[in-house]
Amino acid sequence: MLETSLKLLKKIEMAGFKAYIVGGFVRDYLLNRPSLDVDIATNATPRDIKQIFKDIFIPKVNYGSITVFYHNIRFEITTFRKETKYIDNRRPTEIEYINDLSEDLSRRDFIINTICMDSNGTIIDLLNGRKDLEKKEINTVGNSYNKFNEDALRILRAIRFATILNFTLSDEVKEAIIKTKHNLSSLSYQRKKDELDKIFASNNAKYGVSLIKELALDQELEIYNIDEIELNVDIIGIWSSLKISDKYPFSKNEKELIKKIREAMKLNNLNNEVLYQYGLYVNSVAGTLKGIDKKKITKKFEQLPITNKKDIKITSKEIMDVLGKKEGSYIKDIYQQLTSLILNGNLENDNETLKSYVSKWGYYEE
Ligand code: ATP
Ligand code: MG
Repeated sequence: MLETSLKLLKKIEMAGFKAYIVGGFVRDYLLNRPSLDVDIATNATPRDIKQIFKDIFIPKVNYGSITVFYHNIRFEITTFRKETKYIDNRRPTEIEYINDLSEDLSRRDFIINTICMDSNGTIIDLLNGRKDLEKKEINTVGNSYNKFNEDALRILRAIRFATILNFTLSDEVKEAIIKTKHNLSSLSYQRKKDELDKIFASNNAKYGVSLIKELALDQELEIYNIDEIELNVDIIGIWSSLKISDKYPFSKNEKELIKKIREAMKLNNLNNEVLYQYGLYVNSVAGTLKGIDKKKITKKFEQLPITNKKDIKITSKEIMDVLGKKEGSYIKDIYQQLTSLILNGNLENDNETLKSYVSKWGYYEE
Protein backbone atom coordinates (compact mmCIF):
# COMPACT_ATOMS: atom_id res chain seq x y z
CA MET A 1 0.00 0.00 0.00
CA LEU A 2 2.83 2.39 0.92
CA GLU A 3 4.70 1.72 -2.29
CA THR A 4 1.63 2.29 -4.45
CA SER A 5 0.83 5.47 -2.53
CA LEU A 6 4.31 6.88 -3.09
CA LYS A 7 4.03 5.99 -6.76
CA LEU A 8 0.77 7.92 -6.95
CA LEU A 9 2.37 10.95 -5.27
CA LYS A 10 5.20 10.85 -7.80
CA LYS A 11 2.69 10.76 -10.63
CA ILE A 12 1.00 13.89 -9.36
CA GLU A 13 4.38 15.57 -8.82
CA MET A 14 5.47 14.76 -12.36
CA ALA A 15 2.56 16.85 -13.57
CA GLY A 16 3.97 19.78 -11.61
CA PHE A 17 1.93 19.67 -8.39
CA LYS A 18 2.62 19.06 -4.72
CA ALA A 19 1.08 16.02 -3.06
CA TYR A 20 1.30 14.39 0.36
CA ILE A 21 -0.27 11.44 2.11
CA VAL A 22 -2.13 12.71 5.15
CA GLY A 23 -4.59 11.53 7.79
CA GLY A 24 -5.52 7.98 8.64
CA PHE A 25 -2.95 6.16 6.54
CA VAL A 26 0.09 7.96 8.01
CA ARG A 27 -1.34 7.75 11.53
CA ASP A 28 -2.04 4.04 11.18
CA TYR A 29 1.31 3.41 9.49
CA LEU A 30 3.17 4.94 12.44
CA LEU A 31 1.02 2.91 14.82
CA ASN A 32 1.61 -0.25 12.80
CA ARG A 33 -2.06 -0.65 12.06
CA PRO A 34 -3.67 -1.58 8.74
CA SER A 35 -5.53 1.04 6.69
CA LEU A 36 -8.38 0.61 4.26
CA ASP A 37 -7.70 3.63 2.08
CA VAL A 38 -5.35 6.55 1.65
CA ASP A 39 -6.01 10.28 1.90
CA ILE A 40 -3.95 12.61 -0.25
CA ALA A 41 -3.60 16.38 0.11
CA THR A 42 -2.50 18.23 -3.00
CA ASN A 43 -2.53 21.62 -4.67
CA ALA A 44 -3.88 20.00 -7.83
CA THR A 45 -7.60 20.53 -8.33
CA PRO A 46 -9.95 17.60 -8.97
CA ARG A 47 -9.91 18.61 -12.63
CA ASP A 48 -6.10 18.38 -12.69
CA ILE A 49 -6.28 14.97 -11.06
CA LYS A 50 -8.78 13.79 -13.67
CA GLN A 51 -6.32 14.89 -16.32
CA ILE A 52 -3.38 13.13 -14.65
CA PHE A 53 -5.35 9.88 -14.26
CA LYS A 54 -7.01 10.12 -17.68
CA ASP A 55 -7.08 6.39 -18.22
CA ILE A 56 -8.64 5.61 -14.84
CA PHE A 57 -12.38 5.62 -14.41
CA ILE A 58 -13.32 8.16 -11.76
CA PRO A 59 -16.74 7.52 -10.28
CA LYS A 60 -17.41 10.83 -8.65
CA VAL A 61 -15.96 14.20 -7.80
CA ASN A 62 -17.08 15.65 -4.47
CA TYR A 63 -16.64 19.04 -3.01
CA GLY A 64 -12.98 19.69 -3.81
CA SER A 65 -12.11 16.05 -3.53
CA ILE A 66 -11.96 13.12 -5.89
CA THR A 67 -11.81 9.37 -5.41
CA VAL A 68 -9.36 7.41 -7.52
CA PHE A 69 -8.90 3.64 -7.52
CA TYR A 70 -5.27 3.15 -8.35
CA HIS A 71 -3.85 -0.41 -8.29
CA ASN A 72 -6.97 -1.48 -6.38
CA ILE A 73 -6.42 0.98 -3.57
CA ARG A 74 -8.90 3.72 -2.83
CA PHE A 75 -7.35 7.17 -2.80
CA GLU A 76 -9.31 10.14 -1.55
CA ILE A 77 -7.52 13.07 -3.16
CA THR A 78 -8.37 16.45 -1.67
CA THR A 79 -7.19 19.83 -2.82
CA PHE A 80 -5.52 22.02 -0.17
CA ARG A 81 -8.21 24.11 1.29
CA LYS A 82 -9.22 26.41 4.04
CA GLU A 83 -12.82 26.16 5.13
CA THR A 84 -14.40 29.29 6.38
CA LYS A 85 -18.11 29.58 7.05
CA TYR A 86 -20.33 26.82 8.31
CA ILE A 87 -24.09 26.58 8.27
CA ASP A 88 -25.99 24.02 10.34
CA ASN A 89 -22.65 23.21 11.98
CA ARG A 90 -21.76 21.16 8.99
CA ARG A 91 -21.27 22.26 5.39
CA PRO A 92 -18.56 24.65 4.36
CA THR A 93 -20.08 27.42 2.27
CA GLU A 94 -16.83 28.74 0.94
CA ILE A 95 -13.89 26.73 -0.04
CA GLU A 96 -10.81 28.51 -0.97
CA TYR A 97 -8.08 26.51 -2.56
CA ILE A 98 -4.88 27.47 -0.98
CA ASN A 99 -1.46 26.69 -2.06
CA ASP A 100 -0.14 25.72 1.25
CA LEU A 101 0.01 22.50 3.21
CA SER A 102 0.23 24.00 6.67
CA GLU A 103 -2.91 26.00 6.14
CA ASP A 104 -4.63 22.87 4.94
CA LEU A 105 -3.64 21.12 8.14
CA SER A 106 -5.21 23.83 10.27
CA ARG A 107 -8.70 22.94 9.03
CA ARG A 108 -8.29 19.31 10.03
CA ASP A 109 -9.81 17.79 13.13
CA PHE A 110 -7.15 16.20 15.32
CA ILE A 111 -3.40 16.58 15.64
CA ILE A 112 -2.93 12.82 15.13
CA ASN A 113 -4.60 13.25 11.73
CA THR A 114 -2.23 15.93 10.46
CA ILE A 115 0.93 13.90 10.00
CA CYS A 116 2.00 13.79 6.34
CA MET A 117 4.34 11.77 4.21
CA ASP A 118 6.00 12.98 1.03
CA SER A 119 6.81 11.00 -2.09
CA ASN A 120 10.15 9.85 -0.62
CA GLY A 121 8.41 8.32 2.37
CA THR A 122 9.68 11.12 4.64
CA ILE A 123 7.38 12.07 7.50
CA ILE A 124 6.38 15.73 7.64
CA ASP A 125 5.00 16.43 11.07
CA LEU A 126 4.37 20.18 11.27
CA LEU A 127 2.06 20.04 14.32
CA ASN A 128 3.94 17.38 16.27
CA GLY A 129 1.40 14.63 15.81
CA ARG A 130 3.93 11.99 16.74
CA LYS A 131 4.03 13.33 20.27
CA ASP A 132 0.28 12.70 20.59
CA LEU A 133 0.70 9.21 19.16
CA GLU A 134 3.29 8.53 21.85
CA LYS A 135 1.14 10.04 24.58
CA LYS A 136 -1.87 8.19 23.13
CA GLU A 137 -3.89 11.36 23.39
CA ILE A 138 -6.37 13.10 21.12
CA ASN A 139 -6.07 16.87 20.78
CA THR A 140 -7.77 19.13 18.30
CA VAL A 141 -5.92 21.30 15.80
CA GLY A 142 -6.34 24.68 17.48
CA ASN A 143 -9.11 25.68 19.86
CA SER A 144 -11.20 22.65 20.77
CA TYR A 145 -14.41 24.54 21.42
CA ASN A 146 -14.30 26.10 17.94
CA LYS A 147 -13.46 22.79 16.27
CA PHE A 148 -16.39 20.97 17.80
CA ASN A 149 -18.73 23.90 17.48
CA GLU A 150 -17.99 24.14 13.76
CA ASP A 151 -18.77 20.51 13.07
CA ALA A 152 -20.47 18.21 15.55
CA LEU A 153 -19.41 15.14 13.60
CA ARG A 154 -15.96 15.71 15.09
CA ILE A 155 -17.37 14.86 18.52
CA LEU A 156 -18.19 11.36 17.34
CA ARG A 157 -14.95 11.10 15.39
CA ALA A 158 -13.06 11.92 18.60
CA ILE A 159 -14.87 9.13 20.44
CA ARG A 160 -14.31 6.78 17.50
CA PHE A 161 -10.55 7.38 17.29
CA ALA A 162 -10.20 7.18 21.08
CA THR A 163 -12.06 3.86 21.02
CA ILE A 164 -10.35 2.25 18.06
CA LEU A 165 -6.85 3.40 19.01
CA ASN A 166 -7.42 3.17 22.77
CA PHE A 167 -6.34 6.79 23.22
CA THR A 168 -7.47 9.30 25.83
CA LEU A 169 -9.21 12.57 25.05
CA SER A 170 -7.32 15.58 26.40
CA ASP A 171 -9.08 17.59 29.12
CA GLU A 172 -9.59 20.47 26.71
CA VAL A 173 -11.25 18.11 24.23
CA LYS A 174 -13.54 16.68 26.90
CA GLU A 175 -14.59 20.09 28.14
CA ALA A 176 -15.25 21.33 24.62
CA ILE A 177 -17.33 18.26 23.80
CA ILE A 178 -19.48 18.84 26.88
CA LYS A 179 -20.03 22.46 25.85
CA THR A 180 -20.94 21.67 22.25
CA LYS A 181 -22.66 18.29 22.46
CA HIS A 182 -26.12 19.84 21.96
CA ASN A 183 -25.07 20.33 18.31
CA LEU A 184 -25.21 16.56 17.82
CA SER A 185 -28.93 16.96 17.26
CA SER A 186 -28.23 18.80 14.00
CA LEU A 187 -26.26 15.88 12.55
CA SER A 188 -28.06 13.46 10.27
CA TYR A 189 -29.01 10.14 11.83
CA GLN A 190 -27.09 8.37 9.07
CA ARG A 191 -23.84 10.09 10.08
CA LYS A 192 -24.46 9.39 13.72
CA LYS A 193 -25.19 5.76 12.97
CA ASP A 194 -22.08 5.37 10.79
CA GLU A 195 -19.84 6.60 13.61
CA LEU A 196 -21.66 4.63 16.29
CA ASP A 197 -21.38 1.49 14.14
CA LYS A 198 -17.61 1.88 14.12
CA ILE A 199 -17.46 2.59 17.85
CA PHE A 200 -19.71 -0.35 18.77
CA ALA A 201 -18.02 -2.76 16.34
CA SER A 202 -14.58 -2.09 17.82
CA ASN A 203 -13.21 -4.70 20.18
CA ASN A 204 -12.54 -1.77 22.50
CA ALA A 205 -16.22 -0.73 22.37
CA LYS A 206 -16.55 -0.90 26.13
CA TYR A 207 -14.20 2.06 26.44
CA GLY A 208 -16.12 3.97 23.75
CA VAL A 209 -19.35 3.41 25.65
CA SER A 210 -17.70 4.59 28.86
CA LEU A 211 -16.70 7.82 27.10
CA ILE A 212 -20.24 8.29 25.77
CA LYS A 213 -21.51 7.89 29.33
CA GLU A 214 -18.84 10.05 30.92
CA LEU A 215 -19.58 12.92 28.54
CA ALA A 216 -23.33 12.23 28.72
CA LEU A 217 -23.67 12.02 24.94
CA ASP A 218 -26.29 9.26 25.15
CA GLN A 219 -29.13 11.70 25.68
CA GLU A 220 -28.00 13.87 22.75
CA LEU A 221 -27.75 10.76 20.60
CA GLU A 222 -31.24 9.68 21.67
CA ILE A 223 -30.00 6.44 23.16
CA TYR A 224 -32.25 5.86 26.14
CA ASN A 225 -30.73 2.82 27.87
CA ILE A 226 -26.98 3.02 27.38
CA ASP A 227 -26.44 1.15 30.66
CA GLU A 228 -28.13 -1.88 29.16
CA ILE A 229 -25.97 -2.06 26.04
CA GLU A 230 -24.82 -5.62 25.32
CA LEU A 231 -21.45 -5.64 23.56
CA ASN A 232 -20.94 -9.37 23.57
CA VAL A 233 -22.81 -9.77 20.28
CA ASP A 234 -22.44 -8.57 16.71
CA ILE A 235 -23.41 -5.06 15.63
CA ILE A 236 -27.05 -6.00 14.92
CA GLY A 237 -27.27 -7.55 18.36
CA ILE A 238 -25.79 -4.42 19.92
CA TRP A 239 -28.37 -2.21 18.23
CA SER A 240 -31.11 -4.66 19.27
CA SER A 241 -30.09 -4.17 22.89
CA LEU A 242 -30.57 -0.40 22.67
CA LYS A 243 -33.65 1.72 22.94
CA ILE A 244 -33.08 4.51 20.44
CA SER A 245 -34.87 7.13 18.41
CA ASP A 246 -36.72 5.46 15.56
CA LYS A 247 -35.15 7.97 13.20
CA TYR A 248 -31.92 5.97 13.07
CA PRO A 249 -31.80 4.44 9.59
CA PHE A 250 -31.51 0.69 9.22
CA SER A 251 -31.70 -1.34 6.03
CA LYS A 252 -34.74 -3.53 5.44
CA ASN A 253 -32.69 -6.57 6.28
CA GLU A 254 -31.33 -5.04 9.48
CA LYS A 255 -34.81 -3.99 10.57
CA GLU A 256 -36.11 -7.48 9.96
CA LEU A 257 -33.33 -9.07 12.03
CA ILE A 258 -33.74 -6.60 14.89
CA LYS A 259 -37.46 -7.28 14.92
CA LYS A 260 -36.92 -11.04 14.96
CA ILE A 261 -34.31 -10.81 17.71
CA ARG A 262 -36.70 -8.78 19.84
CA GLU A 263 -39.53 -11.24 19.17
CA ALA A 264 -37.31 -14.21 19.94
CA MET A 265 -36.21 -12.57 23.20
CA LYS A 266 -39.74 -12.95 24.49
CA LEU A 267 -39.65 -16.70 23.81
CA ASN A 268 -37.73 -19.60 25.30
CA ASN A 269 -34.57 -19.76 23.19
CA LEU A 270 -33.87 -23.30 24.28
CA ASN A 271 -37.20 -24.58 23.03
CA ASN A 272 -36.89 -26.73 19.91
CA GLU A 273 -39.75 -25.08 18.06
CA VAL A 274 -38.37 -21.59 18.77
CA LEU A 275 -34.89 -22.71 17.70
CA TYR A 276 -36.30 -24.14 14.48
CA GLN A 277 -38.51 -21.18 13.67
CA TYR A 278 -36.00 -18.38 14.33
CA GLY A 279 -32.79 -20.19 13.45
CA LEU A 280 -29.43 -20.28 15.20
CA TYR A 281 -28.35 -16.69 14.61
CA VAL A 282 -31.45 -14.96 15.93
CA ASN A 283 -31.67 -17.32 18.90
CA SER A 284 -27.99 -16.89 19.81
CA VAL A 285 -28.26 -13.12 19.75
CA ALA A 286 -31.59 -13.10 21.60
CA GLY A 287 -30.20 -15.60 24.09
CA THR A 288 -27.01 -13.61 24.67
CA LEU A 289 -29.07 -10.47 25.26
CA LYS A 290 -30.93 -12.42 27.92
CA GLY A 291 -27.77 -13.82 29.48
CA ILE A 292 -28.04 -17.40 28.22
CA ASP A 293 -24.74 -19.06 27.35
CA LYS A 294 -24.35 -19.07 23.58
CA LYS A 295 -22.72 -22.50 23.64
CA LYS A 296 -25.81 -23.94 25.27
CA ILE A 297 -27.97 -22.58 22.48
CA THR A 298 -25.61 -23.80 19.75
CA LYS A 299 -25.51 -27.26 21.30
CA LYS A 300 -29.30 -27.48 21.50
CA PHE A 301 -29.57 -26.25 17.93
CA GLU A 302 -27.14 -28.88 16.70
CA GLN A 303 -29.21 -31.57 18.38
CA LEU A 304 -32.42 -30.57 16.59
CA PRO A 305 -33.83 -33.51 14.58
CA ILE A 306 -34.60 -31.07 11.75
CA THR A 307 -33.48 -27.50 11.05
CA ASN A 308 -35.24 -27.03 7.73
CA LYS A 309 -38.38 -28.17 5.95
CA LYS A 310 -36.19 -30.08 3.51
CA ASP A 311 -34.98 -32.26 6.39
CA ILE A 312 -38.46 -33.78 6.80
CA LYS A 313 -38.22 -37.21 5.27
CA ILE A 314 -41.39 -37.17 3.22
CA THR A 315 -42.01 -35.30 -0.03
CA SER A 316 -45.23 -33.53 -1.01
CA LYS A 317 -45.62 -36.08 -3.77
CA GLU A 318 -45.42 -38.92 -1.26
CA ILE A 319 -48.05 -37.17 0.89
CA MET A 320 -50.36 -36.87 -2.13
CA ASP A 321 -49.74 -40.50 -3.13
CA VAL A 322 -50.35 -41.87 0.36
CA LEU A 323 -53.62 -39.96 0.66
CA GLY A 324 -54.58 -40.34 -2.99
CA LYS A 325 -55.32 -36.63 -3.12
CA LYS A 326 -54.40 -33.81 -5.48
CA GLU A 327 -52.34 -30.83 -4.46
CA GLY A 328 -53.92 -28.54 -1.90
CA SER A 329 -53.38 -26.35 1.10
CA TYR A 330 -53.71 -29.44 3.32
CA ILE A 331 -50.08 -30.29 2.47
CA LYS A 332 -48.89 -27.23 4.30
CA ASP A 333 -51.00 -28.17 7.31
CA ILE A 334 -49.54 -31.65 7.33
CA TYR A 335 -45.99 -30.36 7.16
CA GLN A 336 -46.71 -27.98 10.00
CA GLN A 337 -48.01 -30.78 12.16
CA LEU A 338 -45.10 -33.08 11.25
CA THR A 339 -42.60 -30.33 12.06
CA SER A 340 -44.04 -29.82 15.48
CA LEU A 341 -44.29 -33.52 16.27
CA ILE A 342 -40.74 -34.24 15.09
CA LEU A 343 -39.28 -31.26 16.97
CA ASN A 344 -41.00 -32.30 20.17
CA GLY A 345 -39.75 -35.85 19.84
CA ASN A 346 -43.21 -37.29 19.33
CA LEU A 347 -42.59 -38.62 15.85
CA GLU A 348 -39.51 -40.18 14.34
CA ASN A 349 -38.20 -38.47 11.20
CA ASP A 350 -38.13 -41.59 9.11
CA ASN A 351 -39.80 -42.07 5.72
CA GLU A 352 -41.81 -45.16 6.65
CA THR A 353 -42.98 -43.71 9.97
CA LEU A 354 -44.01 -40.45 8.36
CA LYS A 355 -45.87 -42.18 5.53
CA SER A 356 -47.76 -44.33 7.97
CA TYR A 357 -48.60 -41.29 10.11
CA VAL A 358 -49.80 -39.32 7.09
CA SER A 359 -51.91 -42.22 5.83
CA LYS A 360 -54.08 -41.87 8.94
CA TRP A 361 -54.28 -38.13 8.57
CA GLY A 362 -57.69 -38.09 6.89
CA TYR A 363 -59.33 -39.44 10.05
CA TYR A 364 -58.40 -36.37 12.08
CA GLU A 365 -59.05 -33.94 9.28
CA GLU A 366 -62.62 -32.86 10.01
P1 ATP B 1 -10.11 6.54 8.81
O1 ATP B 1 -9.97 6.63 7.32
O2 ATP B 1 -9.29 5.51 9.46
O3 ATP B 1 -11.53 6.53 9.23
P2 ATP B 1 -9.06 9.19 8.73
O4 ATP B 1 -8.37 10.01 9.78
O5 ATP B 1 -8.30 8.91 7.49
O6 ATP B 1 -9.53 7.89 9.45
P3 ATP B 1 -11.08 10.27 7.00
O7 ATP B 1 -12.52 10.40 7.27
O8 ATP B 1 -10.61 9.33 5.96
O9 ATP B 1 -10.41 9.93 8.41
O10 ATP B 1 -10.55 11.72 6.69
C1 ATP B 1 -9.24 11.99 6.23
C2 ATP B 1 -8.67 13.19 6.94
O11 ATP B 1 -9.47 14.34 6.66
C3 ATP B 1 -8.64 13.08 8.45
O12 ATP B 1 -7.47 12.45 8.90
C4 ATP B 1 -8.68 14.51 8.87
O13 ATP B 1 -7.40 15.10 8.75
C5 ATP B 1 -9.58 15.13 7.81
N1 ATP B 1 -11.01 15.15 8.22
C6 ATP B 1 -11.94 14.22 7.97
N2 ATP B 1 -13.13 14.58 8.46
C7 ATP B 1 -12.95 15.75 9.06
C8 ATP B 1 -13.81 16.67 9.76
N3 ATP B 1 -15.09 16.38 9.96
N4 ATP B 1 -13.25 17.82 10.21
C9 ATP B 1 -11.95 18.09 10.00
N5 ATP B 1 -11.10 17.29 9.38
C10 ATP B 1 -11.58 16.13 8.90
MG1 MG C 1 -9.06 7.88 5.74
